[in-house]
Amino acid sequence: MTVALPSGSTIPALGMGTWMMAESPARRASEIAALREGLDLGLTLIDTAEMYANGAAESLVGEAIAGRRSEVFLVSKVLPSNASASGTVRACEASLRRLGTDHLDLYLLHWRGSVPLAQTVEAFAGLQEAGKIRHWGVSNLDLDDMRELTALPGHCQTNQILYNLSRRGPEHDLLPWHASAGIPVMAYSPVEQGRLLDSPALASVAARHDATPAQVALAWVLRLPHVNAIPKAGTVEHVRENAAALSLRLTDEDFAQLDGAFPPPEGPGPLEML
Ligand code: NDP
Repeated sequence: MTVALPSGSTIPALGMGTWMMAESPARRASEIAALREGLDLGLTLIDTAEMYANGAAESLVGEAIAGRRSEVFLVSKVLPSNASASGTVRACEASLRRLGTDHLDLYLLHWRGSVPLAQTVEAFAGLQEAGKIRHWGVSNLDLDDMRELTALPGHCQTNQILYNLSRRGPEHDLLPWHASAGIPVMAYSPVEQGRLLDSPALASVAARHDATPAQVALAWVLRLPHVNAIPKAGTVEHVRENAAALSLRLTDEDFAQLDGAFPPPEGPGPLEML
């Protein structure tokens, strides 16, 4: 399963997140093994950020993908406090060094700060010309910000947002806007950092398919053709379980039961973020 970017490139519908990785030496080997297992299973999009573990998550990713760079669609993010014209370039070069690569496949503004969007977008364009990033996009931008962004020159390739069964707000207007603009959404925290996994409704749907709650939560996010998901898994077992969600097809009965437990939004609301 893939999701199409406006550029014409395609990305895997299921990728891997890295927030909270590289926080504990005791978990490092497991985290690296998990990322490598994910690549073997086709979860070849890796999402990281200069913010995660103060750069150490990028270094861990660099170690995990050493010798396999060409297999990976590599995503990182610039902090809003670094997102000025020169700051963006400096931040990107530091990320590239930590990741042990000469280019990112996608570089995102982590969230909107005080730097005007136009300045960051111009810096992204310069990085593209220099071959340091292939594509750029944003994260945590709500509808008004997306409208402002897409009126600027250049082509945003994605908006990475909080979206899962317990965070359905974007279904009201942001997700439909993305569908009509042809800009896909990357769903972060797709299992709500694990908090979703003890839901009785998820357990009940999972039991019908001989699946797990995590697989149901991921299959639910992936039901939309313009949405991909980047669960973070720190063990090989969790990565295998998540990868298998790609072959889970939910039924109308499943969707109705999940709508009952996690109702869709009734009106507009601000985009939530973690
Ligand atoms: P997730 O919803 O991906 O949840 C991660 C947690 O779920 C971890 O504790 C993990 O445990 C657990 N988990 C994963 N798979 C399973 C499974 N199969 N069974 C049981 N537990 C499981 O939350 P994240 O917040 O990490 O979001 C995913 C990624 O999105 C981040 O890592 C980051 O890359 C990105 N992100 C971006 C943000 C932004 O502002 N742009 C904000 C938040 C996240 P374990 O580690 O033990 O496997």
